[in-house]
Amino acid sequence: MRVLITGAAGFLGSHLCDKFLSEGHEVVGMDNFITGKRENLAHLGGEQRFSFIQHDVSNYIFVPGNVDAVLHFASPASPNPNSPVGYFNLPIQTMKAGALGTHNTLGVAKAQDAKYLLASTSEIYGNPKEHPQKETYWGNVNPISTRSVYDEAKRFAESLTMAYHRFHDVDTRIVRIFNTYGPRMHIDDGRVVPNFISQAVRGEHLTIYGDGQQTRSFCYVDDLVEGIYKLLMTDEHYPVNLGNPYELTVLEFARLINKLTGNAAGAKFFEDKRTESDPERRQPDITRAKEILNWEPKVSLEEGLNKTIEYFRKALNRQ
Ligand code: NAD
Ligand code: UDP
Repeated sequence: MRVLITGAAGFLGSHLCDKFLSEGHEVVGMDNFITGKRENLAHLGGEQRFSFIQHDVSNYIFVPGNVDAVLHFASPASPNPNSPVGYFNLPIQTMKAGALGTHNTLGVAKAQDAKYLLASTSEIYGNPKEHPQKETYWGNVNPISTRSVYDEAKRFAESLTMAYHRFHDVDTRIVRIFNTYGPRMHIDDGRVVPNFISQAVRGEHLTIYGDGQQTRSFCYVDDLVEGIYKLLMTDEHYPVNLGNPYELTVLEFARLINKLTGNAAGAKFFEDKRTESDPERRQPDITRAKEILNWEPKVSLEEGLNKTIEYFRKALNRQ
């Protein structure tokens, strides 16, 4: 297959490029580097089956040659208001990548008669009133909160993807990705994993927003990429959750990071730093992924974190 991957210079996009190349496919990466980095693709410089187009997906997309599959991953993804690459500081670009970018990438899939996969998110469930979150849950999203630029763009993107499937018969898939972590995450994007690990590696206290009782469930990137690959190879058109159901509080997570890094500086609480609509609890129900894809995460949190900590130590040394 010849696969177009948007957001290729980002964290997940670059791992997807590696996965498709390792499975023998040809990959065309697309990115405008708004939050991604060239160095995430530097290792593919000599790869004959990889090519790259620098382009903003909010504008009309032209890809020379045939395309057999389109994976739309381009979007800012960090909710941290203090980060220059977080979507709070890129609100219009985020809505455009989710709305216009989804429209343009669906257009490519329709014109090329290609398979299509949309990167959606657990954020479409908002601050969930159902726990764990199943795909049948419609969510609890405030459409005018500062966080909504991301949540509503993704909800629109899901709706548009289903419309292209139903009306134009495009062969679509939707993956709802829960918090995923691993090497090549942006050190400064402000998400909890890069924040805590870089603070710990520097020997600083970890910054817990609120009282740390909010929960998350973290999936290692290799597991996620395997699930996405399997989903593309099925005929499932309805959304599928992918994530690791192992749930812990942010406080427990901070303690684990300090233990694994040997950081003695501890953690401090910042009551005022929790953002509006920051979900209280998040845990995927992955029953559908198990049934449809025969998939479940294999990498334990400690194992994945140790690999990520190693990557961050090297990256911070280079700074
Ligand atoms: P990332 O910021 O590392 O990667 C996103 C990439 O998209 C970047 O390289 C960025 O430059 C590119 N991009 C953004 N807008 C663009 C545009 N208009 N045109 C071209 N390129 C553009 O983030 P990530 O964590 O790798 O997330 C990738 C995708 O997965 C996003 O769609 C995100 O919503 C989704 N997702 C990620 C997670 C997670 O835990 N990492 C969870 C849920 C959903
Ligand atoms: N968080 C925190 N300290 C940080 C960064 C984040 O306590 O330095 C919290 C944040 O408030 C949220 C959780 O960690 O409750 C996960 O945040 P992240 O930015 O990783 O993404 P989210 O899961 O909210 O999309």
